[in-house]
Amino acid sequence: MFDSKTLDGKIALVTGASRGIGRGIALALAGCGATVLVNYNGSKERAEQVVAEIANMGGQAEVIGCNVSDYAACEQMVKEVIEKYGKVDILVNNAGITRDNLIMRMSEQDYDDVLNTNLKGAFNTMKHLTRHFLKNKSGKIINISSVSGVMGNAGQANYSASKAGLIGLTKSIARELSSRGICVNAVAPGFIETEMTKAMPKSVLEGAKGSIPLGRIGAVDDIANTVLFLASDYANYITGQVVCVDGGMSI
Ligand code: NAP
Repeated sequence: MFDSKTLDGKIALVTGASRGIGRGIALALAGCGATVLVNYNGSKERAEQVVAEIANMGGQAEVIGCNVSDYAACEQMVKEVIEKYGKVDILVNNAGITRDNLIMRMSEQDYDDVLNTNLKGAFNTMKHLTRHFLKNKSGKIINISSVSGVMGNAGQANYSASKAGLIGLTKSIARELSSRGICVNAVAPGFIETEMTKAMPKSVLEGAKGSIPLGRIGAVDDIANTVLFLASDYANYITGQVVCVDGGMSI
């Protein structure tokens, strides 16, 4: 079903692809033949490593630095990509941060930073790319939300709000772009083993495990494989959906 030709000729932009889930998504898309633009903000070397890994497996990729929370920088990134490649077929809004705290202790800065990266960042890339998607009359946009955006989570009011907002953004833009065959979906991961979850206290992670029906923390590939499916022609009749990849946490 999926092989090195599935996404042949497709151009994919993955935000926050220097590590974690974004890296896994970049590798999966490139493994199926897409040319992948590996976006990073601070971790240039790690993004270059991802590009090198893709080249080693015979794929095509390039790094592209940009802080997705910066509207003008996103406009410039899109301009550069379109000038060089002429189009983007697959956009994965994966870049995200956490600044966890209870609302009593949460600073305004931590609230704004999380909303600006996780929610406005996705708006920025979609806003600047929409014209090009419409012109091509095709495309796949996949926004990485979170189980926290679906269920809420104590200590993550800013993060949950950003990820729930991303679901609203996904559904609205799916409606706006559907007449041109462009599919816009969200993936809502549960707890996935990355640096983001490694930063969490062990007790919290162990407690979380108890609430996962499938009884394990997810792997990056669990998310990457779902994104791969949504990015492919096998998902041409799916739009405006939230796919929870969370071991059953949100049942
Ligand atoms: P991670 O390991 O912390 O990686 C985050 C990535 O986002 C990095 O590549 C980072 O790039 C990039 N990034 C952060 N701010 C950015 C900005 N302003 N502009 C561009 N890139 C930026 O996180 P992860 O666990 O892989 O999470 C990836 C996505 O999945 C996030 O949206 C997260 O909310 C979501 N998610 C994760 C989990 C989980 O359990 N891990 C669960 C649910 C949802 P630089 O290092 O270059 O800045």
